[in-house]
Amino acid sequence: MSDDSEQYGFDTLAVRAGQQRTAEGEQSEPIFPTSSYVFKSAAQAAARFSGDEPGNIYSRFTNPTVRTFEQRLAALEGGERCVATASGMAAISATCLALLQTGDHIVSSRSVFGTTVVLFEKYINKFGVEVSFVPLTDYSAWEKAIRPETRFLFLETPSNPLTETADISRLAQLAHDHGCLLVVDNCFCTPALQQPLSLGADIVIHSATKYIDGQGRCIGGAVVGPEDLVGQDVYGVIRTAGFSMSPFNAWVFLKGLETLKLRMHAHSKNAAELATWLQEQSCVGKVHFPGLPGHPQHELATRQQQDYGGVLSFEIKGGKEQAWTVIDATQLISITANLGDAKSTITHPATTTHGRLTPEARTSAGISDGLIRIAVGLEDVGDLKKDLSRGFRQLG
Ligand SMILES: *Cc1c(COP(=O)(O)O)cnc(C)c1O
Repeated sequence: MSDDSEQYGFDTLAVRAGQQRTAEGEQSEPIFPTSSYVFKSAAQAAARFSGDEPGNIYSRFTNPTVRTFEQRLAALEGGERCVATASGMAAISATCLALLQTGDHIVSSRSVFGTTVVLFEKYINKFGVEVSFVPLTDYSAWEKAIRPETRFLFLETPSNPLTETADISRLAQLAHDHGCLLVVDNCFCTPALQQPLSLGADIVIHSATKYIDGQGRCIGGAVVGPEDLVGQDVYGVIRTAGFSMSPFNAWVFLKGLETLKLRMHAHSKNAAELATWLQEQSCVGKVHFPGLPGHPQHELATRQQQDYGGVLSFEIKGGKEQAWTVIDATQLISITANLGDAKSTITHPATTTHGRLTPEARTSAGISDGLIRIAVGLEDVGDLKKDLSRGFRQLG
């Protein structure tokens, strides 16, 4: 794309940003499955290694297909730089290794991806970095938890599986008032529905495995933000520690970005229809979805997001036995913990993603035994309703 790419709209950037057509004149972006690159001479090799001449050396450092994905995602998030990683967890790990040192402290929402909690508590902690967990929407708890040595605040919004929504601008202000950074895992909304950097966040994290892929094929991740923090510090960790993304996966993800906005609105529309229907079912208690007028942060989600996303959860009256009955009666919806797929998925958080927590910790996190999460896919919603009705009928 030409130099005036800054002037293009989101939809154009999603389809074209980052592409550099080769001499072959290909219309679709090529995959470069090569581990290293050939130099014209010993002198050129020396110049590349010393950094005097820019260019490819080795695919742990740079790869043209990965670069296309990075430039496209950076354009969509409105960030200066994006660096791709082998997984979403590699993106969070690289960010921690780049930004933290012994004696530092971080504050994290307690409603973050389970493996992120393990990373912070078991591994990052090992290097003398302390972590405090706070309830996502309790702003005074965030403020109280901040210390002079706090380096960043970390959150996901909406949260998983209860879809609680936090005010990104407010937390960015709080972070900056105390001289720390705000890091947002934007996996659930993607830039198609929410751009945290434009709301004041400093760094955006992605698990590309989810909606960016969109069809459940590849594992990958990304970090987006300013040139110094991401282009220098985080990139330095990735090329050294080896968290790099494969060119094939980058190609799947960059093609995924082309249809991301269409898919996110379709997921959101299906989820909204299913959530409304679930509210009318006699065996269903609370339904958690930011698009419902009764959701505690409905107004904030409406202001902060372009749509409400594809994830919802709901409480089956009774407990685990009743929830498992509904899950086991499905014939269409996949019983799997992944999300962001064209195929709808169903999980029982209390015995899977949140199974490691003590019953008390689960209760305080709001994960009841009757809670079911659905990542609503792109099927006909009528068929999803029929699939859930099978189990609802068994409950009588
Ligand atoms: C899945 C997920 C991750 C981790 O991503 P992987 O690609 O599985 O490593 C991080 N954050 C959120 C919100 C996720 O859903």
